[in-house]
Amino acid sequence: MNEVTTIDRTQREYSDAVKKALARAPQLFINGEWVDSSGDETIDVEDPSSGAIISKFVEATDKDIDRAVAAAKAAFEDGRWRNLPPVAREKIMHRLADLIEANADEFAELEAIDVGKPKGMAAAVDVPGAAAHFRYMAGWAGKIGGETQAPYSMPGGMMFAYTVKEPVGVCAQIVPWNFPLLMACLKIAPVLASGCTTVLKPAEQTSLTALRLADLVAEAGVPAGVVNIVTGYGHTAGDRMVKHPDVDKVAFTGSTEIGKLINRNATDTLKHVTLELGGKSPVVVMPDVDVAETAPGVAGAIFFNSGQVCVAGSRLYAHKSVFDKVVEGMAETAPFWAPRPSLDPEAHMGPLVSKEQHDRVMGYIEAGKRDGASVLMGGDAPSDAGYYVNPTILTDVNPQMSVVREEIFGPVVVAQRFEDLNDVVREANDTQYGLAAGVWTKDASAAHQIASKLQAGTVWVNCHAMIDPALPFGGYKESGVGHEQGRLGLEAYLETKTVMMKL
Ligand code: ADP
Repeated sequence: MNEVTTIDRTQREYSDAVKKALARAPQLFINGEWVDSSGDETIDVEDPSSGAIISKFVEATDKDIDRAVAAAKAAFEDGRWRNLPPVAREKIMHRLADLIEANADEFAELEAIDVGKPKGMAAAVDVPGAAAHFRYMAGWAGKIGGETQAPYSMPGGMMFAYTVKEPVGVCAQIVPWNFPLLMACLKIAPVLASGCTTVLKPAEQTSLTALRLADLVAEAGVPAGVVNIVTGYGHTAGDRMVKHPDVDKVAFTGSTEIGKLINRNATDTLKHVTLELGGKSPVVVMPDVDVAETAPGVAGAIFFNSGQVCVAGSRLYAHKSVFDKVVEGMAETAPFWAPRPSLDPEAHMGPLVSKEQHDRVMGYIEAGKRDGASVLMGGDAPSDAGYYVNPTILTDVNPQMSVVREEIFGPVVVAQRFEDLNDVVREANDTQYGLAAGVWTKDASAAHQIASKLQAGTVWVNCHAMIDPALPFGGYKESGVGHEQGRLGLEAYLETKTVMMKL
């Protein structure tokens, strides 16, 4: 169906700015400087559009991590950042956002060749989103305050009591590979607004933009040691960060499996922990929808970023009266989503990030077929070079199948019919996850009723994956702990101190 056979999947040539970034010596950004690792191991950077090795970066050692944490600790303790006037912190954060915008084209290209996402998508979503997180959180820098509170059990005039909000301290921040720059900025922005300091580690698959961001952190005037960026593997460098006694808070985005491990590892020293984890988000399509609008919308909900999105609408539940039309309409979007090299200007979907991810997604598709699912669209890999998987719709599925239960993190949607609203809500909630959900309907009352019943941290109505720095984002159930973004996202980086003085 809608086969596209003539796509040239040769990756395009990189720009000079990107070639320069790729030619950098592998180093770590610690205490405001580019420094060599104490070891000599490196990790290769691969362009998933071609499979070519294009650069390498440091595999940080324990010693490197200790050095970065020590820099963050010194910067926190001497108050070089948190004691600046909030207006100064705010200005520096805006300057950092300005610099990201000034280098937008390079960031978009770096992200494209590292993750495999279309450059146009990175330019439209990732880069402006990254700058927006700094701008939004910059506004909070000057608005952090406590309150006075009269004691309940003591006579009036006896005590003066108040609360103050203080930065939590040294943070260890670990981000995944699907939105590397966006996730790094989403993590660093509340650190800067609150007056904390951080050691941030990008994913080992995608470290290019975080390293480039480090240059801009320095250029914007963030004092040395406040933001340290280290590269390396999760089970070594990441693990060292999470267990480090001088780290006060861990912020992690990634898989539920690793999130649980990190939560356990952070427990010994009772660190503050926020976790943004996996999902298997249901999308409910009601019988009253305009199919011409809804079908491309629910296709985008799963195929955007090759489905490598924690909130991907990976379980579609369409009312039986519109099911056939909706899946047909989704299938008609196949040429639009046909995977192309990330620097092809016509690309809306690129390859998956790595061979490992490609094989994992293909493994799920095969398991779905073995379990009896039908392939309505895609289900195959279109090319030998690069890690492409065609956008895939599976039907004839049931709630026991792994393709319905587990997070695939690829362009694969399982489509199911429903008749009764109570049944579909129960099925939608029948999952370990609770990150996000979608409802498509013209009936506002039905939309709110369904939203109230879905166990998810975010519910979208007639749209999907609309994420904004001002709106809190967090998971129910095994999709996370705590919130990022919005006021709650800031508060996750603050302690509350009560001061009581006898008058
Ligand atoms: P994915 O399954 O999507 O690759 P992961 O949850 O494995 O995502 O990884 C997300 C981030 O967590 C990456 O930066 C990775 O290096 C890091 N990570 C993986 N394992 C650990 C660990 N044991 N401790 C700390 N960080 C880890």
